Amino acid sequence: MTTAVAATYHDGRTSVSRAVTILVADGLLHVEGDGFATAVPLAQVRLEPRLGNLARRLDLPNGASCLVPADFELPVAADAPARMERWVNEAEIRWAPALVAAVIVLVGLWATIVYGVPSAANVVARRISPSVERGMGTQALQTLDRVALKPTELTVERQAQLAARFRTLAGLSGLGDGVVLLFRKSPAVGPNAFALPGGTLVVLDELVAEARDDDEIMAVLAHEIGHVYERHTLRHVLQASALGVLMAAVLGDVVSATSYAVAAVPTFLLDARYSRDFEREADDYGFTLLDRAGIDRAHFARFLTRMEAKSGGGSLPGWISTHPPAAERVR
Ligand SMILES: [Zn+2]
Repeated sequence: MTTAVAATYHDGRTSVSRAVTILVADGLLHVEGDGFATAVPLAQVRLEPRLGNLARRLDLPNGASCLVPADFELPVAADAPARMERWVNEAEIRWAPALVAAVIVLVGLWATIVYGVPSAANVVARRISPSVERGMGTQALQTLDRVALKPTELTVERQAQLAARFRTLAGLSGLGDGVVLLFRKSPAVGPNAFALPGGTLVVLDELVAEARDDDEIMAVLAHEIGHVYERHTLRHVLQASALGVLMAAVLGDVVSATSYAVAAVPTFLLDARYSRDFEREADDYGFTLLDRAGIDRAHFARFLTRMEAKSGGGSLPGWISTHPPAAERVR
């Protein structure tokens, strides 16, 4: 038997509410008010879960209900299924579980960004057909030719010389004809070489001019073949898209309330992280390929160091800027 508790009774048919006292005794819930009394078996009543200090509704049969104080509890026997509800209530009024939940969400998001997005992009990239990837590369080249690149000014003989050495390197990589070397010139871009989706490598006259010997050029191209082998450009595009979608989902409200800069900063930082991972992969691949070709790895390190010294540590030429610090890679 519980002590009597003051409550408010609604019959469920009219909007009239009446002051009552409720009391549990002998497996019955007794509701008594002014000229009013009823008793209901406990099995037919249901107490809504506690939510902080809000009054709770106690449902009676036939649509009637009582509003009871937050701390009102039915006897445990009739109340057994409420254990979970009590736990939920406790979780709701305690900040510690909320903090733990927030940390779990953040760690989950971080893991998704750092591991989930790259591995998903890797899987998707390997399922995209080579012809689709080549199509992307062709389009990218057309755009670059229009806005940034000019025809090469290397002589036909010089091109043939470099192309022949490149073919040897490509053959050793196992990619064979899957990788193609093109020559372009771009004073605006500077000493640079890059890999397009689908296996097209572009080397600029400016890079050829900066190299002390052809081994240095081959060292750079071995690194770029690494980007082709690992399908980095395609994976980068996929990851950047996925990251954009994820950031929009997480920061959706923030972005609409303030500016895209809020989303752009973490996106940029994460993108730089992805780039560094790709560069390391390409370095590893490039070094293995150089070993196979009998070209000293030091050529790559020398060229990188010279390019960085030349830039005075300030604004780096395009080719370097997307790469990790030369000192770190030279090691
Ligand atoms: Zn690279």
